[in-house]
Amino acid sequence: MTQPSSSVLLIYTGGTIGMKEDPGNQTLRPFDFSSLMEEVPELRKFALRIDSYTFDPLIDSSDIEPSMWQKLAEIIRDNYNSYDGFVVLHGTDTMAYSASALSFMLENLSKPVIFTGSQLPIGRPRTDGKENLISAVEIASAREPDGSPTVPEVCIYFNSLLLRGNRCTKVDATGFEAFRSPNLPPLAEAGIDIRYNRDIIRRTPPGPFRIHTKLDTSVSILKVHPGITRQVVEDILLGSRTRAVIIESYGCGNAPSSDWFIDIVREAGARGKILYNVTQCIRGLVNMDLYATGRTLKDAGVLGGKDITTESALGKLFFLMGNSDDNESVKAYLEYDLRGEMSN
Ligand code: ASP
Repeated sequence: MTQPSSSVLLIYTGGTIGMKEDPGNQTLRPFDFSSLMEEVPELRKFALRIDSYTFDPLIDSSDIEPSMWQKLAEIIRDNYNSYDGFVVLHGTDTMAYSASALSFMLENLSKPVIFTGSQLPIGRPRTDGKENLISAVEIASAREPDGSPTVPEVCIYFNSLLLRGNRCTKVDATGFEAFRSPNLPPLAEAGIDIRYNRDIIRRTPPGPFRIHTKLDTSVSILKVHPGITRQVVEDILLGSRTRAVIIESYGCGNAPSSDWFIDIVREAGARGKILYNVTQCIRGLVNMDLYATGRTLKDAGVLGGKDITTESALGKLFFLMGNSDDNESVKAYLEYDLRGEMSN
């Protein structure tokens, strides 16, 4: 028998893809990896070595913590030279957060790290898990004619689309088309063939692969809305344990222009807090120069996140703040695209 030419490490963290109904109370609970693999015999048809690493315990991704991202990064680092690509089986609820965080934590990545999962457990007749898993494995092992990996990025593969991980949002709680990257076309689409959009796939300049596991999570999110109270804004923006606040603004970066609101933003800025403006809109970008209300925020020291998602903004802040105690240096990086997370 010929030796498989490629190898993929499947990292199973949990999620619906590997869940079974508990006969007692009909809720879904994770089941083990070998049972999961028995449901997908098609994987054996690939000329691939597929090994696995299973999280213990397996988790519903609503329970994901940054410590698990650290563990994921370490597993990838420890196995980096032994595999051509990595597939992470993960619940859909927080997949966009995890893929975003990992994209920052893995520096000089030159191999595919493909997150996938499913809306229906893999044992169910109409499951979307099989196709998602099979195609994710194919993408993780795909190579260019020169032997280099086709997609050396952290991605999410779901329902025929390969999306950049740090551009994704979960957009459907029940439908199979659960993820979208509204501000970036798919990196690939799977039909009869997998068609790669090579023009937008990122290839980082050669450099030693390394991971960053120091994360500072002292970040809050302020979603502005009509009727928001002074007390809530004060609590979030001036909270003593909060180093950074993502302000989820309206449209292209606007927020209430009332004096009390702007005064609190100014006070937070004066205290050196990192204030990052991300739009509530699913598509388009923050431009604080367009309207007076946006301009006031900018003048108060708020930085613009362009078209970054909230999930990605969170991962970027955790990563940058984990790497520096100096807020001014964190701010200097925030407006720059580090891992393809925002448009230039
Ligand atoms: N609650 C599940 C999870 O995120 C949902 C899913 O996997 O789709 O783990």
